[in-house]
Amino acid sequence: MSDVMAEREIDRSQMKVSDEVAVEISGMNKWYGAFHVLRDINLTVNRGERIVIAGPSGSGKSTLIRCINALEEHQQGKIVVDGTVLSNDLKNIDKIRSEVGMVFQHFNLFPHLTILENCTLAPIWVRKVPKKEAVDTAMHFLEKVKIPEQANKYPGQLSGGQQQRVAIARSLCMKPRIMLFDEPTSALDPEMIKEVLDTMIELAQEGMTMLCVTHEMGFARQVANRVIFMDQGQIVEQNEPEEFFNNPKSDRTKLFLSQIL
Ligand code: ADP
Ligand code: MG
Repeated sequence: MSDVMAEREIDRSQMKVSDEVAVEISGMNKWYGAFHVLRDINLTVNRGERIVIAGPSGSGKSTLIRCINALEEHQQGKIVVDGTVLSNDLKNIDKIRSEVGMVFQHFNLFPHLTILENCTLAPIWVRKVPKKEAVDTAMHFLEKVKIPEQANKYPGQLSGGQQQRVAIARSLCMKPRIMLFDEPTSALDPEMIKEVLDTMIELAQEGMTMLCVTHEMGFARQVANRVIFMDQGQIVEQNEPEEFFNNPKSDRTKLFLSQIL
């Protein structure tokens, strides 16, 4: 694990959580064929929350967040995102996808499109934003992630950290109200982890609602307001970071923390 968070001072008290619910998951179960991958998930996320989801490989972390933007279907229970109930015959899937941004471990940029085109494609074709406006928005967010000068290059010409920042900018171009991160720094070298975490910290400070699957426990301690621990498809334990790290309740959480810290 990297210690890129070590030298920082982050004032979490400035990051406000509202009373308004952003995501509500109740009694949710999911199977892959016969395999029961998510078990009785109950989770309410308020606006402005920064939630870190931790747990061993295979515990269902990716599946859980992929259910929140309907990349995966669930079979039982209820998921409500921004007031929209996710069902298998969801009509407004584009609305959910534009309100919920997602950043993956392997960036998933379109290799044959420039950085700028990566950032304007969905706004133009999904949100029907006029091209000029989409370009202005893209440049705004590329400046925000500190790589406007890369706009006309292709993903393959950028470092991993730069590509991941493009992926974040691309998501932001859809003006999401919720951001999902699935191990956004796991494929990066330490010096690049820092630049991606910086971008995520800035988003948190601006009040973005965030659910982050990450092994960066420094980020969890300093930025998250809640850490959720999953094992074998269940939420085993959740708490504010201080309590979670200093006073874990379940044996499974204790074992996990002893292995990673
Ligand atoms: P995590 O992100 O915590 O590592 P995942 O959500 O990726 O866990 O996977 C949870 C479990 O579901 C694992 O056992 C994995 O092998 C299985 N799994 C994930 N995706 C699929 C799929 N598309 N089909 C069948 N099984 C899957
Ligand atoms: Mg995963």
